[in-house]
Amino acid sequence: MDSREILEALVGFDTTSVRSNLDLIDWIEGYLAPLGADITRLPSSDKQKATLLARMGPATAGGMMLCGHTDTVPVVGQPWTRTPFKLSADNGRLYGRGTTDMKGFIASALAVAPLLAQAHLLRPVVYAFTYDEEVGCLAVRDLALHLENLNLRPAAVVVGEPTEMRVVRAHKSVRVLRTTVKGRGAHSSRPDAGASAINAMARVIGFLDAMMGDLASSCDVDEQFDPPGVTVNVGTVTGGTAVNVVPADCEITWEYRCPPSADRELPLTSVSSFIRLEVEPVLREHARNGGIKTEVLADVPALDARKNAKAAALIADIGGLEEGQPVAFGTEAAGLLESGMPSVVCGPGSMAQGHQPDEFVDEAELDGCDRFMSDLAGWAQSVEVGQSATGSR
Ligand SMILES: [Zn+2]
Repeated sequence: MDSREILEALVGFDTTSVRSNLDLIDWIEGYLAPLGADITRLPSSDKQKATLLARMGPATAGGMMLCGHTDTVPVVGQPWTRTPFKLSADNGRLYGRGTTDMKGFIASALAVAPLLAQAHLLRPVVYAFTYDEEVGCLAVRDLALHLENLNLRPAAVVVGEPTEMRVVRAHKSVRVLRTTVKGRGAHSSRPDAGASAINAMARVIGFLDAMMGDLASSCDVDEQFDPPGVTVNVGTVTGGTAVNVVPADCEITWEYRCPPSADRELPLTSVSSFIRLEVEPVLREHARNGGIKTEVLADVPALDARKNAKAAALIADIGGLEEGQPVAFGTEAAGLLESGMPSVVCGPGSMAQGHQPDEFVDEAELDGCDRFMSDLAGWAQSVEVGQSATGSR
């Protein structure tokens, strides 16, 4: 099967993050097992999802890992003009949910498997296909731990998020949070008998807004990013029941993004102390059981270009690829790099099409990824005198 045929099969599975990915994982296992891959599944805690780890070649460190997430963002509420879970080709583009983010990369990686199976590999090529990336890269820690235990630490990891096949070495950290205010309800004619959760939250939001201004211009800026500093966004706000009721509850979800050099605890500790010292005491004057709680929903570290230079050079050398600008989205590469796996981001397509209605990947991009995969197969078979796991082109 070529990468298009495999992509057609992969897009046919609805692997929106809320759903199980096991049917898709079964399909990939059914494809790889007859090729002699050494396969392990790392199940999620509820057993509804799994990461598939499959090794082609020897059980040694120093190989290449190809990492992709199998889940996608939802299509609900998006104005699709095509069937999202059926691949359609039109004018050099392949349409369908996940084509660019990131089943195209997975398809291309799988298409080279028969070649790897026939070759005499001196270094392993390891597939790692994960779940729950789109809800916060939840499977990465388990994966890194498992690789470490097996002594399979690769020379480099390619996380195939769409970069138009450029080797990307950096992105900001992303932390997603939920803050809830518990106040006290009352009739609106007697605001003094209650404690408005919305008013308290308004102060929190005002602080976040001002904090973004402060942090954006602080010393924690890194000019390789656009924008160069910390960013903060309040994404949703809910609260209150009626115009004539003092609201007892209010909730926001928000996020902030920091360059690798910035202290990523600072925004959270700043807002937490503002809440504790300035907002909660006022709230509790009229709501004895009132309070404000902040939870971290997802936490993706920054991808730090100071730590992956060798891996980036190796991958660029193998595929004759160019280095790309930092990307604006968080990836599994950061968590893997933090766990000691030298990781970069490089995959077909552009994130401009990711998460969009009528998502597509250019066929030329998929062709470029196919070329990289066959170059990689060549690297895995070759050896240079005096070197073990370095580029050999
Ligand atoms: Zn993605």
